[in-house]
Amino acid sequence: MRGRRVLVTGGAGFLGSHLCDALLGEGNAVIALDNLLTGRRDNIAHLGSDRRFDFLELDVCQPLDCGKVDYVFHLASPASPVDYSLHGIPTLRVGSLGTFQSLEVAKKYQAGYLLASTSECYGDPLEHPQKETYWGHVNPIGPRSVYDEAKRFAEAATVAYRRYHHVDTRIVRIFNTYGPRMQLNDGRVVPNFMKQALRGEELTVYGDGTQTRSFCYVADEIEGIVRLARSSEPGPVNIGNPKEFTILECAEKVLAVTGSKSQVRYEALPEDDPKQRCPDISKARRLLGWEPRIDLENGLRMALKYFQEALGTRT
Ligand code: UDP
Repeated sequence: MRGRRVLVTGGAGFLGSHLCDALLGEGNAVIALDNLLTGRRDNIAHLGSDRRFDFLELDVCQPLDCGKVDYVFHLASPASPVDYSLHGIPTLRVGSLGTFQSLEVAKKYQAGYLLASTSECYGDPLEHPQKETYWGHVNPIGPRSVYDEAKRFAEAATVAYRRYHHVDTRIVRIFNTYGPRMQLNDGRVVPNFMKQALRGEELTVYGDGTQTRSFCYVADEIEGIVRLARSSEPGPVNIGNPKEFTILECAEKVLAVTGSKSQVRYEALPEDDPKQRCPDISKARRLLGWEPRIDLENGLRMALKYFQEALGTRT
């Protein structure tokens, strides 16, 4: 993509701001839209002087018109378990009303459209690793349902606009992603462990730490998303790192990278916490020629400076 006018909802979020960087880097004009519920101005402060960049502090659930755009990336949503538990109704609204409004923009201007969906669509999966053909195992009334069902609805809305209105849509299912600009207090495991390790506090492992996740460094994730946007593949396509770690192994990596002597403290496992999660990325490999390049240890090293600076522990 080059020389296009692109709308990024959730553009001041962790992932959204990295996507804005990548799209500007490819020579596009970018409008970032964010209501700053979980996004932060700090994430886009470095773009303020770029004439090709605009920021609109707006809620995507309201009817919106930002003029003609060539492409819409719909990323807006609280995305960490702590954030979407705290903001349950806004999470349902942005996944439903916000998806409709952003799809309407794409329909009006015959723009391309990419929905940022999630591995949470698979719930606490009974199939492992998860392929895109797996329909998932989601509790519709559990604490995670505000996010899981909102994103499943968003996927249904996206394919409906493709089917009935011929909007040129794509769906990416994003697996656990980490890197600079993650909010320190969003409760996710990487910022929690980095923060605790750098402060010399105990690392809070929920449950017995044998549950697994697969962690993708943000630069790899963005590369996969951009490749999907450039392709004509409607998806859904899993974009994540297929190397799986237990949460205890993740704690060990964080301790190694930070050089911290912190101990581990075990806490209760949150309700409906998925026991395992690992993407099957054969579709992304085959259709997009994409696979992640940065392993967890290197990614944590690359993110270390950000966490040190954000915590004020860098000397
Ligand atoms: N987790 C943990 N300690 C923390 C935060 C999270 O052990 O301080 C665990 C959590 O229970 C889950 C995994 O780490 O099994 C990933 O949690 P996160 O909130 O990062 O994202 P999720 O993949 O659950 O959406």
